[in-house]
Amino acid sequence: MSRETDSILQTALHNFEQAAKRLKLENSVYQKVLGPKEKIEININPVLPDGKVTHIKVFIVRHNDALGPAKGGIRMTPDVTFDDVTGLAMEMTWKTSLIGVPFGGGKSGIQSDPARLRPDEKEIIVRAFIRGARRHIGPEIYIPAPDMGTNQTDMAHIRDCISYSEGTSITKGCYVTGKPVILGGIVGRREATGKGVVYTILSACEKLGLDIKNMRIALQGFGNVGSVAAVELAKYGVKIIAIADISGMVVNEKGLDIEALLQHSQQSGYVKGFNKATEVDRDKIFAIDCDILIPAASGSQITIDNVRDINAKIIAEGANAPTTAGADEVLNKQGIFVIPDILCNAGGVFVSYLEYTQETQREQMGLAQVEHRLAERMKQRFNEVYDFSKERSLTMREAAMDIAVSKIVEATFARGLLP
Ligand code: NAD
Repeated sequence: MSRETDSILQTALHNFEQAAKRLKLENSVYQKVLGPKEKIEININPVLPDGKVTHIKVFIVRHNDALGPAKGGIRMTPDVTFDDVTGLAMEMTWKTSLIGVPFGGGKSGIQSDPARLRPDEKEIIVRAFIRGARRHIGPEIYIPAPDMGTNQTDMAHIRDCISYSEGTSITKGCYVTGKPVILGGIVGRREATGKGVVYTILSACEKLGLDIKNMRIALQGFGNVGSVAAVELAKYGVKIIAIADISGMVVNEKGLDIEALLQHSQQSGYVKGFNKATEVDRDKIFAIDCDILIPAASGSQITIDNVRDINAKIIAEGANAPTTAGADEVLNKQGIFVIPDILCNAGGVFVSYLEYTQETQREQMGLAQVEHRLAERMKQRFNEVYDFSKERSLTMREAAMDIAVSKIVEATFARGLLP
């Protein structure tokens, strides 16, 4: 049985503490960067169409805004905790710094299960969240986006709720990213995180001398990030042999038919029941013999209990904090090349920044421009982290953390010590 208790927050704290030691941060700077700057807990009581009054806890954390307004998605799951949101907000601080956008780190959590809600019920809850949290959200304060359990439709309701309360058709500036294109969203945002994951995998294969066409892939999570990554990877002719979601796992040694699986999961909501594959227990995903493993579901999935089952050359962290600190140590000893979350899944926040600038400047960007900028940025930052790791004999995670934290420290000093 596991004695490891690493949560998303513990993993985020561990990674920061290690970076702080390597960078020899003074205690006063360490404390300031450790944060978080602000934690807000709100109770909302929306009334659902059947007259039932609900009681839902929501959390907002602004971890650090030295580089700019806090940026980070809204997680809507029944078990999201204040600690999870704090750890995820911290991760966003490093991610925005590393990918090079003028944002800080933030995150929200809504304790509710979207799988049990009808669309009209979810809309009522999202709008209640926004009304309760309104004063903590804004283009210069905190700009939310989708995360687990939320999507473009919810972002549309958020924008509408804010503009409605202002009595305007649009918001004055960008209050939320990941919106539908028809409501000021940017083309390519929905796919940006998944595509970014694939760009980092291509870069890793190039550095490690692996031919992407020969790679066999196992993927955990078939939501926004996982399904887009799968569709993109399939274009390179790779074999995706196993995909797990919350319902179970489907395996086909010859390679899954991704288009057909996507259709099946769009219709049924899950991968389970796909007839062109064998069904296996979802937790066996880490024991699948593969070249590249992509965790793209929730946090703390690769633990000390299952890490030794992993037989992959590359782990691409599409999810946030999927690997606990103890498991990470084992992966390093085993020489598995890990593309850390703050690099691997940063494509979403990068394109969110393009959406923010587009809306602020009343501009329009085309898909080719967005995709070109995303591909270029992901490759450039991957190479920067890779070169830094080689120069200093660090793992990719250590190198990414050191680069990201150094920039926060630099901005903190540049702002000055007094408020
Ligand atoms: P999503 O809600 O769209 O999909 C989550 C997927 O994970 C679903 O297929 C679900 O069934 C599966 N899942 C959940 N628990 C599981 C389990 N125990 N075993 C197997 N599968 C499980 O979420 P998403 O937006 O795709 O986010 C996935 C991860 O990527 C999260 O960690 C999120 O924080 C991270 N992320 C998302 C974005 C984004 O733009 N959406 C950006 C950066 C990072």
